[in-house]
Amino acid sequence: MIPVEALTPFEARIEHAELVETIARWDEAYHAKDAPEVPDDVYDGAKRRLARIEGRFPELAAKSPIRDKVGAAPSEGFGKLVHAVPMLSLDNAFAPEDVAEFDAKVRRFLGLGDEAPLAYVAEPKIDGLSINLRYEGGRFVSAATRGDGAEGEDVTRNLETFPATQLPRTLGPDAPAVIEIRGEVYMTKADFLALNQRQEAAGEKLFANPRNAAAGSLRQLDPKVTASRPLSLFAYAMGEASAPPAASHWEYLERLKAWGFVVNPLIRRCDGVAGLLSAYESLGEARATLAYDIDGIVYKVDDIELQRRLGFVSRSPRWAIAHKFPAEQATTLLEAIDIQVGRTGALTPVARLTPVNVGGVVVSNATLHNEDEIARKDVRIGDTVIVQRAGDVIPQIVGVVPGKPRGAVPFVYPETCPVCGAHAVRPEGEVIRRCTGGLTCEAQAKERLKHFVSRNAFDIEGLGEKNIEFLWEKGWVRGPADIFRLKARNDAELLQRLENFEGWGKRSTEKLFESIKTRSAMGLERFIFALGIRQIGEATAKRLARHYGSFGAWRAAMLAGTEEARAELTSIEDIGPSVAGDLLDFFSEEHNVQAVDDLVAAMAALDGAVEDAKVIESSASPVAGKAVVFTGTLVTMTRPEAKARAEALGAKVVGSVSKKTDYVVVGADAGSKAAEAVKLGIATLSEQEWLALTGAAD
Ligand SMILES: [Zn+2]
Repeated sequence: MIPVEALTPFEARIEHAELVETIARWDEAYHAKDAPEVPDDVYDGAKRRLARIEGRFPELAAKSPIRDKVGAAPSEGFGKLVHAVPMLSLDNAFAPEDVAEFDAKVRRFLGLGDEAPLAYVAEPKIDGLSINLRYEGGRFVSAATRGDGAEGEDVTRNLETFPATQLPRTLGPDAPAVIEIRGEVYMTKADFLALNQRQEAAGEKLFANPRNAAAGSLRQLDPKVTASRPLSLFAYAMGEASAPPAASHWEYLERLKAWGFVVNPLIRRCDGVAGLLSAYESLGEARATLAYDIDGIVYKVDDIELQRRLGFVSRSPRWAIAHKFPAEQATTLLEAIDIQVGRTGALTPVARLTPVNVGGVVVSNATLHNEDEIARKDVRIGDTVIVQRAGDVIPQIVGVVPGKPRGAVPFVYPETCPVCGAHAVRPEGEVIRRCTGGLTCEAQAKERLKHFVSRNAFDIEGLGEKNIEFLWEKGWVRGPADIFRLKARNDAELLQRLENFEGWGKRSTEKLFESIKTRSAMGLERFIFALGIRQIGEATAKRLARHYGSFGAWRAAMLAGTEEARAELTSIEDIGPSVAGDLLDFFSEEHNVQAVDDLVAAMAALDGAVEDAKVIESSASPVAGKAVVFTGTLVTMTRPEAKARAEALGAKVVGSVSKKTDYVVVGADAGSKAAEAVKLGIATLSEQEWLALTGAAD
């Protein structure tokens, strides 16, 4: 391309006309058809060049018709659909013992003996993209991807391109008024190879594997592209249903077939662990010959009433598990070992590899876990190593290939932070070495920011790693509060506005400010998780939020500094002295408290706030928010089931009786806890009284 400074007036006029026409067409495609023809950076590049030509030849600017149109409402891409019933992920089993443990847990929960019959359904786990298909009055009305499990992308128009043999538009007259059918959109191996050949011939990008190809083909803003791609669909699960369509999962699959869905022909019904493992073995043998990729086998409790009783634990159902096939391995050269610094200062070694294909995916980085693992395996730079990949797990280095030339020197693990130079220390008994730079360590601060904006935390769209790095280097975002002041900061600039930088552009910048504004109102559990306090994961953040209810109450408790406050903290399920210690340590640092308060203030300045935690189920439940202790043997339900049901009603189930306990439910042969309750004057209930109170009595 000729530099703008070198254009003759004649060339400028021609190029200007072309640019005006092209940009107008792109605008039309983007705003009216919701189908961008070019990536943002190409669009922005064209706009910049147009502006520079007009800068040099002002007479052309006067004729430019498109200038005023810029900044039309940005497209949101896909609409969002909230799932009526969350789309959860499954727990994984890797060894036969894990499967036996799963079966044992199910039996314990249900109070079934080891020998009692318990039917399961075993299904190949298709490596594709999960989808929720909603039917109302027997008619197909919408389709959504899994998304984050709570809400997905509205891909209704894309699914409408599927033939009726894959996606029935109407179900029979026997269908419930509302039913959601779940399944997997996938691409066969042969279709994947053919698609990549066409992509290559057309100079388009290639897909890494059939799953990526399926996802990339379905998530197209232009459904015509989806229509041109060879996608298939297996149905295998249920979302919301106004009436139960079957008593067992097996019968449900039969009904799916009757309604016209494709159900995988390899699905089997089996009994007990032995039945599951034999299904695993035969599917494992057939795996390589199948037309599509599978990465394991899913076991589901067949009886739907038992599924209902088993319910869910955090993000997974208790009644199903995915048994993964063994990992894929390959060998390659270890070129370097980089040390990364995490948000809590943890130093982690990353292997840089000569790129190698591992089971269909090109791998060039892999984890080496930690210092001890490197030493134990004596992995050296220059070694030929075995790299392994299992499902979506980060690839890892298993060991050194014997008989190959070795690297010359053992790897020396650094004792200082590679980023800030502070001492990196490893406390007695721990495997992780940490940078002691704290607030002064740039690496930690950046990682904390990346965590803060990540999907399960504040989920700020348009603020990926690259942009965080950019804003950090610019000095505009050094802490979470700065994110919420970014627009004000940008508006105050005269020349250095974000939209003038390479890779930003007006549309992207506006979109970013919009998503920041949206996120200035944030639920307490995500807020707590986003702070990135050591050991405070999603599940713990959720428990804290549900226990304290509001930001104010939580903050006050963390700063109270009394033994009572600490005792209350450790009375919360799964919060032991170590987690409580990390939490209170965080709040004992004045600068952390300031940063948290500053963040809340910055959110408030955008009319946002930390929203109170929602108590799951109706708070009308008489036990919502109450602290309950179960003791002794229960008759109508097992202890885990009692606990799960109480929690579903919003109660907090705690292990020991204290002044803060509201109810003690006393079963047969109760011991000291019942006596303790009487001593403290706490209400004790029999199992029947408890059932009556919670409305579960017959
Ligand atoms: Zn550091």
